[in-house]
Amino acid sequence: MASGSAVAAAGLATWLVAGLAAGLAAGLAAGLAAWLVAAALLLWAYRRELARLWREPVFGQPILIVESDDWGAGPLTQAGALSRIAEVLQRHRDASGRNPVMSLALVLAVPDGPAIEREGRYCAVALDDARFAPVLGALHAGAAGGVFALQLHGFEHYWPPALMASTDAAVQRWLRGPVPAATEQLPSPLQSRWTDAGALPSGALPAAQIRAAVAAEVEAYTRIVGTPPRLVVPPTFVWTREVEAAWAAAGVQGIVTPGWRYPQRDAQGLPAGDEGPIVNGQRSGELCYVVRTDYFEPARARGASHALEVFGRMAAQGRPCVLENHRDNFIQGTQACEASLRELEALVTGALAQAPAVRFMSTRELERILRARDPQWIVHAWRVRLPFAWQRLRASGRLWKLLRLSGLAAVGSVLVRWAARPAS
Ligand SMILES: [Zn+2]
Repeated sequence: MASGSAVAAAGLATWLVAGLAAGLAAGLAAGLAAWLVAAALLLWAYRRELARLWREPVFGQPILIVESDDWGAGPLTQAGALSRIAEVLQRHRDASGRNPVMSLALVLAVPDGPAIEREGRYCAVALDDARFAPVLGALHAGAAGGVFALQLHGFEHYWPPALMASTDAAVQRWLRGPVPAATEQLPSPLQSRWTDAGALPSGALPAAQIRAAVAAEVEAYTRIVGTPPRLVVPPTFVWTREVEAAWAAAGVQGIVTPGWRYPQRDAQGLPAGDEGPIVNGQRSGELCYVVRTDYFEPARARGASHALEVFGRMAAQGRPCVLENHRDNFIQGTQACEASLRELEALVTGALAQAPAVRFMSTRELERILRARDPQWIVHAWRVRLPFAWQRLRASGRLWKLLRLSGLAAVGSVLVRWAARPAS
């Protein structure tokens, strides 16, 4: 009897275990299927962002570019500041023997205050006026020495009719003040050249006026600099597709962007109407975009240590480090200028110490590399690109958070480690 019940109990246990195992396996299979569906949905929802991250060119070695805006027509203290900047840059070289280059975006004219006062209409003084000879001389000397690369910012750093029509008494005084005026003193919305910010939200400019102004500024740049402009940094990053088309028609090949195009100023005066995102090497017909990464603005607490942190991050992501800077770091008195120069020196020496393989170049050279997808600089083998793309993904914010929550990040990390190959 006893042995009969033991056999029955053992049979029941076996049946229970088998049932449990089958249930568990079915549950696991259902769970796995649900996870796979959720993962596929997540990847599908972010397919454009993923494709963009993957398509963006990957640079196999660290690149450092400092872009400084607003130089040219303006305060004469720029001449001394430019010479001091050139001295700092000339002291250093990368492994290929190349000096660091500062890509300078030029403004070609400021208002002729006395003439405006006298004639009651807008008049300008251009950078090739004898009064600006020391500034132009310093720009040319730095370019000849290989430490400056010149590019177009705008004929003016504003839209003259918007200023002339402004009801702001300070703006009218600024227009009629002594030469040279400093555009940094204008209200921010009025510093935009390619929108009429006389009233907010700003209004679009007439197409014919855009074409005429672009043709005139390209002609003036060619006359003053000696070569036609190939790269433009749109003032305050407010510009439109119409302006782009006019630049392209005038021979411009590259546009520097912060990753977005802002066609107007909103009711609060802020750049608005975001068009993008735009990535490095993206094309619009003949135009090629170059994207600024971050800032090097010592006067605004973004000095060398901030820039070097960005530089390290960009190198890991296979992106060139293109830093935004402005002349006002260097023309607010001797002490401020010297402080900015020390930060510039710290940035260059820090980059060389942090990444001895770093290469210095101008934005124009970077644009050419991007345009040609030059294999000497850009990695094409997918297994070599993988770790760089993975770092981009880790910096993607919300997408990365979702990848981590879903467990896809852990799976991806194993796969990337297995498939990735180091750059030769
Ligand atoms: Zn500017």
